[in-house]
Amino acid sequence: MSTALLHYTAAAATDRGRKRPSNEDAFGFSIESGVFLVCDGMGGAAGGEIASSLAVDEMLRLLDPLPADEKRPATMPDMAEEAIAAANEAIYSRSQRNYKLSGMGTTLVGLIVEERCVWVFNVGDSRCYRLRNQNLEQITLDHSLVEEQVRLGRMSRSEAQRSPIRNVITRALGTQSRVTPDIFELEVETGDLFLLCSDGLTRELPDSSIQLLLCAELPLDQLCMRLVEAAKKAGGHDNITCILVRASE
Ligand code: CA
Repeated sequence: MSTALLHYTAAAATDRGRKRPSNEDAFGFSIESGVFLVCDGMGGAAGGEIASSLAVDEMLRLLDPLPADEKRPATMPDMAEEAIAAANEAIYSRSQRNYKLSGMGTTLVGLIVEERCVWVFNVGDSRCYRLRNQNLEQITLDHSLVEEQVRLGRMSRSEAQRSPIRNVITRALGTQSRVTPDIFELEVETGDLFLLCSDGLTRELPDSSIQLLLCAELPLDQLCMRLVEAAKKAGGHDNITCILVRASE
């Protein structure tokens, strides 16, 4: 395996879709810090939009790089977990102070890259995929009622996709005083392409279509646009957001 230094490039796109009056998704990234985030908010009034953008802002602020001579003090999973807890607290306390925002929350899927190591974390049903050698693999597991039924063998994958309760998530950021994220640690190979996305993409497009689109040899911003356009063409029932991150030498 090559040991050359990797560098990362990224692009993102978000779209209201064709049915929703507003866009409650939010995204953010910092190439210097190696942090990439997608959030899909929920809640009455403007709660969804507030929750998702609060999560992105808070996470970016906390995971920003330290001065060059200071190494990151804690291990990366610990830092990610602390940032997620702080973002959760920021949303939760804001909803406690304003009854109109009561119950607001957001999903979170994120990526932190450091050389050949990547940490993926998620809460809710926004997903991370990795395309390697033209094969698409879902890294995260949805925290949703139907996904849990599938894992327990009580429901088939296709039943889950058609289920009227398929949008019920079992974990969210900001709806309770505490939250437990999943965190995955992966080794990166040259050419790996990571996709972070909200369910507005994955509800409309099967993994096979996403894989086919991602295999096109195009700049990342054009790939993002193609994903969004394909999801809109397939119905665009929900807000659509994606970030693509590529590792190259
Ligand atoms: Ca959504």
